[in-house]
Parts: sequence; structure tokens; C-alpha cells
Amino acid sequence: MRLLIMGAPGSGKGTQAAAVSERYHIPTISTGDMFRAAVRSESPLGREVKALLDSGSLVPDEITDAVVVARLSEPDAAEGWILDGYPRTTNQVAALDTYLATQGKQLDGVLLLDVPQEQLLERMLLRGQHEGRSDDNLETVTHRLAVYHEQTEPVISQYAPRGILHLIDGSGTIAETGARIVAALDPLTVADVDG
Ligand code: AMP
Repeated sequence: MRLLIMGAPGSGKGTQAAAVSERYHIPTISTGDMFRAAVRSESPLGREVKALLDSGSLVPDEITDAVVVARLSEPDAAEGWILDGYPRTTNQVAALDTYLATQGKQLDGVLLLDVPQEQLLERMLLRGQHEGRSDDNLETVTHRLAVYHEQTEPVISQYAPRGILHLIDGSGTIAETGARIVAALDPLTVADVDG
């Protein structure tokens, strides 16, 4: 199964992607996690993207696309994956479409977590206190929400007409949201088995 999980920063994408990974035996591929790992290891990529991550701005498309294509080409991604945090711009949608077309593959579903704005702010500031993520402070969080509205909402408009978008109410508990995701995805796995 090849899936995307989308939603504003703080909508719970990472947590829900991990649950989907486990249930459907597919790796989570998170661009945010890959960039944070690069920053921690102080690799050339990490040095290039650190300031962008710290300010909550997007990494340029060419860099992000290359990182994703390299990761999708690894053996554990052959049978499926869930992409968390990618694509985030309409150019990235085009890059992913091109990659999938060259592989003769297609997306099975796009999960969109819907959480009210006040809850997003609350959740991210709490996460900043608990996990010490350098981009979870009020200034950066506000910027990341603005970036999401400007650059990532148009991505949703691109997937909506394809009939694979599942709008998931993400305002409840982790378990409630997880159950809604399972209800959306389990029918797709049956369709897979039937051919
Ligand atoms: P996330 O953990 O998904 O919130 O991502 C953290 C940060 O990584 C973002 O604020 C961006 O700086 C960068 N990032 C993650 N995914 C992307 C992407 N698809 N395109 C550009 N930048 C990204």
C-alpha cells in the first residue's frame, strides 16, 4: 500500500503514521525526521538545511525530492510506504507523480488529518516543552502554520479530484483518530487482495 499522510503541523501525522506502519507492515518515510537526523549528524545535507528547519521554512524542492526518491528506492520500500510530510508543495506533487509513473506504481490513498487551529497551536507548544524540538516555539510554530496554509493546502486541492483523499477528523484522542484511519484503510487492503 502506498499512502500519504497530510495535515497541518501538530495534527498528529507522525504518531498516526507510526500506527499505520505497524498495522500494514510498511515503512514510514518522514522528510522531517530525515532532515532532523541529517542536522544531528552534521552531514553536508544537515548543514545545508539546519537554518531552514530552525526557522520553520521549507527546504527547497530539488533537495527534498532527491532525498525522497533515494529513500523510496531502498529495498524495504518496494512493497509500499506511508509518506509523512511529503509532498508539501505542488512541485513536489509533480515530482512524486513522475517518480511513481517511472516505477509503474500509484498512490492508494491520501489521509488528511483535520484538526482545529487552536488545538494545533496548543499541541505544538506542548510538544516543544516535552520533546525539546527546536522548531516548536511560538514564533516558529506560527510561521509553520502560515507556510502550511500557503504552500501545502494547494497540494490537497491537487489530490482531491483523484478520489483517493480521506478526510479524517483528528481532533479527538490518538486512539479515536487511529480508529478512523483504520476504517478508511482496511477497505483498501481488501481491494488489494481481490486484485
Ligand atoms: P515536519 O517534521 O514534517 O514538521 O518537518 C519539519 C521541517 O522539515 C519543516 O518545517 C521543513 O523545514 C522541513 N521539511 C519537512 N518536509 C518537507 C518537505 N516535504 N518540503 C520541504 N521542507 C520539508
